[in-house]
Amino acid sequence: MNKTDGKEDLKKMTNIHILQLSIILILLIIIAVAVIVARKVITNDGQTPNFETEIDQMGNSDDAEEEGNTTNLDNQTGTENETNTTDTVTVSNNLSVLNDWQIRLVNRENPLPDDFTVELENLDASRQFDKRAIGPLRQMILDMRDQGIKNIWAQSTYRSIEYQKGLYEKSINKYLKQGKSQEEAQKLTDEYINKPGTSEHHLGLAVDFNNVDEGFENTKAYEWLLENASNYGFILRYPKEKEDITGIEYEPWHWRYVGPEHAKKMKEQDLCLEEYVLGSSLV
Ligand SMILES: [Zn+2]
Repeated sequence: MNKTDGKEDLKKMTNIHILQLSIILILLIIIAVAVIVARKVITNDGQTPNFETEIDQMGNSDDAEEEGNTTNLDNQTGTENETNTTDTVTVSNNLSVLNDWQIRLVNRENPLPDDFTVELENLDASRQFDKRAIGPLRQMILDMRDQGIKNIWAQSTYRSIEYQKGLYEKSINKYLKQGKSQEEAQKLTDEYINKPGTSEHHLGLAVDFNNVDEGFENTKAYEWLLENASNYGFILRYPKEKEDITGIEYEPWHWRYVGPEHAKKMKEQDLCLEEYVLGSSLV
C-alpha cells in the first residue's frame, strides 16, 4: 500500500510540476510579448526626441499648445491660428526655432493673424511691451544709464494694428503732399513702415530708441547696444548689410527682443532674424 501510495504521490507531484512549469512558461511568454509591445510604443513615440525636448525646454511652442500641452501656460500670445506654419514646420530643419515666440518672424511675407493678441505690461504711461520681455528691456535701459549713457529712452514699443494703419496712411499722405504719385508714396513708405499686420511692433517685442533717426548710429547708446544688447536678448533687427534679406532699410534705432540665447548666437554668426529662422540657404 505504502509503495503504491508513494508511486501515486510521485505521479501527482510530477503532474503538479508540469502544471507549474506550464504556467511559468505561459507567464514568461506574456511578459515577453508585453515587453516587445512596450518597446514598439516607446520607439514610435520617440521618433523625434530632440525636437520634443527642445520644444519643452523653450516652453512656448505653438505645437505644444495645439497638442493641448497645459504646461505651457505662458503661451497666451494668440498663436493659435498657426496651422499653416505648423505644416511648414514638419518639413523644416528648424522645427523648434520656428515655434519659439521669442523669434517669431513678422514681415511682409509673414503677417500676423488679425486676431493676434499679446499680454502687455506698461513701460511708462504711454508705452507697453510684451510682459515676458519687459524685464530685460527695463534692465538694459537702467544699465545704460548707470554706465553714463543718460540720453536713452524708448520712443516706440508696442503698436496695435490700428495704430500702424494710421502711421502708414500718414506717411503716404506726407509723400503725396510733397508731390509724389500714389505709387511713389507707397514705395517710399514701404521702405520704412511696415504695412499694418506686418510690423513686428505688433508683437510687443520691438523697441525704437530716441528720435528714430539714422543719427542714432553715431551715439554712445548705439555703440553700447551693439556691444551689450545681446546679453539682454536684443538684436539690431535691420542691419545695413542685411537690407536685401530683411527688405527693410537700415534702422539703427530699432531693436528686437529674441532672448539672450538666440541673440548671442545671431550676433556670433552675424545672422539677421530671417537668416536665423529660415536658415541662410533659404533666404
Ligand atoms: Zn521700429
